[in-house]
Amino acid sequence: MSVTAPREYQHFIKGAWRKSESGKTLDVLNPATGELLTRVPAGDARDVDAAVAAAREAFTTWGQTSPAERQGILLEIANRIQKRARDYAELETLNVGKPIRETTNIDIPLAIDHYRYFAGVLRNLQGTTQTVDPTMLHLTLREPLGVVGHILPWNFPLLLAAWKLAPSLASGNTVVMKPAEQTPVTLLELANDLRDLLPPGVLNVVTGYGPDVGAPLASHPGVRKLSFTGETTTGRLILQYASENIVPATMELGGKSPHIIFPDADVERAIEGVMVGVFLNQGEVCSAGSRLFVHDAIYDRFMGKLVAKVKGLKIGNPMKEDTQLGAIVSREQMEKVLSYIEIGKKEGAALLCGGTRPTDPELAKGFFVTPAVFGDVNNKMRIAQEEIFGPVVSVIRWNDYDAMIAEANDIAYGLGAGLWTETLPLAIKTAKALQAGTVWINTYNALAAGAPFGGYKKSGFGRECAFDTLLHYTQIKSVFVSTAEKPMGLY
Ligand code: ADP
Repeated sequence: MSVTAPREYQHFIKGAWRKSESGKTLDVLNPATGELLTRVPAGDARDVDAAVAAAREAFTTWGQTSPAERQGILLEIANRIQKRARDYAELETLNVGKPIRETTNIDIPLAIDHYRYFAGVLRNLQGTTQTVDPTMLHLTLREPLGVVGHILPWNFPLLLAAWKLAPSLASGNTVVMKPAEQTPVTLLELANDLRDLLPPGVLNVVTGYGPDVGAPLASHPGVRKLSFTGETTTGRLILQYASENIVPATMELGGKSPHIIFPDADVERAIEGVMVGVFLNQGEVCSAGSRLFVHDAIYDRFMGKLVAKVKGLKIGNPMKEDTQLGAIVSREQMEKVLSYIEIGKKEGAALLCGGTRPTDPELAKGFFVTPAVFGDVNNKMRIAQEEIFGPVVSVIRWNDYDAMIAEANDIAYGLGAGLWTETLPLAIKTAKALQAGTVWINTYNALAAGAPFGGYKKSGFGRECAFDTLLHYTQIKSVFVSTAEKPMGLY
């Protein structure tokens, strides 16, 4: 291991480290060992005030920078993360508990790519012109909003920060970011790495608990736009704050995504897809394919192979290159996952494997849960309807297409959906029938810069990762220009 976190961080405000006004700190743990990783300030409204003031001041100049200048800066952000890619991957793994092979191959490279993507597409953020009549020209200007408040979750800290920071900066806004209290490390490292690149106040990071920092940020009158990723219940609160100040908000919330196996699926690939769908990042993925619909005709064969494969998953120290399933982010989240295992058993589902804490003494202090498969699940059960956010898949048997589609859509959420079939017309028909912001055909959890990501129904609104995102971070000004040489003659 080559990198360690410092003993303590401070807030990052106006280009410098700054102590919390309260002087209080909170412990950040390594979930694989339960040990202290570092400490960060437990901020409050006073720190948020300072950060918003810094961001507002910085906006007066940053909002006027040229697209070319911002493009250069975003490309340099990408290069700086790239230079320390291994450090970022290790710190993310130490803080989140997810396997190093994931942070190395997914989180960090994708984060880098988002800065590059937005560096490119920002040059296309242009207005329109029209000739209204021979003496009247109309044009639109796309202008930044001002200070944007970002409230982040703990599952993909640096990647989801990129989803929000890259388009915000690309379109000329300044930002105040609140990382999840469990996982602030990589964002604070990034702020430090960009100290001499971004003018002071363009990027501010305030750490602390949701009600102490997130709430004052979301309700701050100096903030002109909010972007939130997290639970639907928290999103609802944040929308209430946004409504007080009449500010737009992007909401990326929970999910309970259906993942459908047709009888003609390529079973080997589909099984891998199911594993990617629900065991990537220990299932702590808002788009996890956690409701699996397997067709009756192949149910027994498919489930036999799936369970054998799940039992063979390598769970353990996430810093080891061959670990496939790491630790759950916190004790609280681990207990939540374990409680759903009990709920599933009580509801009458068949626990086919996993759902326990591992017996390996080396893992005893970490927050691990063995990967679980529930068979014979009914779509009405809580383990089919509620987001568990852990390595648990609920499997539902189906045989009637229309009834299965109705069940797949019979859920409050609509973030992702997946399906496996070798029949193209069926795949397209099904993709259209599913109520979800992203549908994966013969793949699962694929993400790409340029592919809009966001939810239908209670999974939220607004789209991240794509050109459309820049539209959410800007507002339109309509400008009419008269070229008339004489008065209209009305008065
Ligand atoms: P999770 O259960 O996945 O942590 P949350 O929605 O609770 O999901 O957390 C996502 C983010 O929202 C975190 O940064 C958290 O601190 C923040 N948060 C939690 N409660 C509030 C709140 N009342 N107001 C603002 N932000 C909050």
